[in-house]
Amino acid sequence: MQKSEAQSIFQQTFKYVRETAILESTMALLEWDERTGLPAHAGEHRAEQVTFLSGLVHQRKTSLPFGNWLNELSQSELMLQPNSPVGASIRGMKRDFDKNIQLPEELVKRIAHAVTVGQQVWSEAKPKNDFASFLPHLTDIVALRREEASILADGAKCRYDSLLDQYEEDARTDEVSVVFAELRERLVPLVQKLTQSKSGPDGKSIEGLFDVPKQREFSRWVAEKIGFQFPRGRLDETDHPFCTTLGPNDHRILTRYYEDSFSSGLYGTLHEAGHGMYEQGLPTEWYGLPAGSAASLGVHESQSRLWENMIGRSREFWQWCLPYAQKWFPQLADVSVESIYGDLNRVEASLIRIEADEATYNLHILLRFELERELIDGDLQCSDLPKAWSDRYESYLGIRPKNDSEGVMQDVHWAAGLIGYFPTYTLGNIFAAQLVNAASDELGDLPSMIAKGDFQPLLRWLRTKVHQHGRCQKPTELVANATGKPLSSQPFIDYLTKKLTPLYR
Ligand SMILES: [Zn+2]
Repeated sequence: MQKSEAQSIFQQTFKYVRETAILESTMALLEWDERTGLPAHAGEHRAEQVTFLSGLVHQRKTSLPFGNWLNELSQSELMLQPNSPVGASIRGMKRDFDKNIQLPEELVKRIAHAVTVGQQVWSEAKPKNDFASFLPHLTDIVALRREEASILADGAKCRYDSLLDQYEEDARTDEVSVVFAELRERLVPLVQKLTQSKSGPDGKSIEGLFDVPKQREFSRWVAEKIGFQFPRGRLDETDHPFCTTLGPNDHRILTRYYEDSFSSGLYGTLHEAGHGMYEQGLPTEWYGLPAGSAASLGVHESQSRLWENMIGRSREFWQWCLPYAQKWFPQLADVSVESIYGDLNRVEASLIRIEADEATYNLHILLRFELERELIDGDLQCSDLPKAWSDRYESYLGIRPKNDSEGVMQDVHWAAGLIGYFPTYTLGNIFAAQLVNAASDELGDLPSMIAKGDFQPLLRWLRTKVHQHGRCQKPTELVANATGKPLSSQPFIDYLTKKLTPLYR
């Protein structure tokens, strides 16, 4: 095939996948709407809309002409530069096509329907601690995802591998297990040492009530300062914070505010702004193609947790931010940088993952990872989940949930069918520590930049090293190229030890 012919097939393919992306972003808008203010009786029709659209998307992603174009492109001269945006996009699209074509449309639609209804039931059942009414839906979702995993695994790998791979390209359960086991070995004694210490931050500086409208203004202001572009996005509220992209210039972040918590709304915002800034840094000219998409969920999570924790919970951040926070919240007038820094980094065994400190957070993830694998590859039944969940909390963190709302029903993930997703959070922490180390080495005095509120050098570094590459490299390759180091949990453990131990002397 002539190069010009290949280029014209590529243009045709690009137009086609962009149209598919338009349909997918329309579904994302429906989901955003569902989670920001769907009327109580509108759920059934919304499930019908999403089911119908997901069928259309699946048809497009598995259509014969599309498959033929990808076959021709894969053997064309355009693949001579496999890591260029064009070469990497062809490879990525072909990889996705080969997976999607294995899944029957009927199964895809059943999953879309089950997870839409599942989330609606979950959001009603959770505040009522009503696991019984959620159980049949969860059982259905797990069975469907097992069916999907069996098809994709094709007898070769463990089923869980094929679910994990959807969020973290080429990640393997056995390899992730090794990294996580290392992490657990070092984390458990560190957490024990910190939580058993007699001294340490007492949380007093951020106790009390914080006006919600002021929190709203303050959170938006901080998100803008670190670099979230509001002309290309917005900040709203929901019960379970998330970030979604509705188009190349439309990035929605969502948080939630509680009057009795200074940190929930702020750190929800910083976390989601980190996701949003990554999406805003992807090359818009490649929107719809792998070159214009995020590398993986682990890399995504590295961006959110980097801004939330490594920057937002640093001493230097509060040297800069405290005088501003005091203007919004006069009750902080007598609070010192040291006390708020300590209180925002308290280590405590707790039940709610998204409220957990940086050290215990990963134990919440490790136990979900284990339970998911048992659901998909082992013989754990959904009806036994509440007990298995509570037992594992007791053994890892020494505490037991009082009810299912603060136990097995706390996260939306399983209701949304997101099985294989949790490990990407801890991978994100590991990536983030490596990235911050590399950025500090290259940028010079990063802490003093943060202390001045100058976040641009770090954001620019992330844009160059991570964001602009889209999905042109595999996640671990991307991080290794950005940092010059292979994947290792050591920098993350070192970071936690160095940061948290001095607070507990
Ligand atoms: Zn996140």
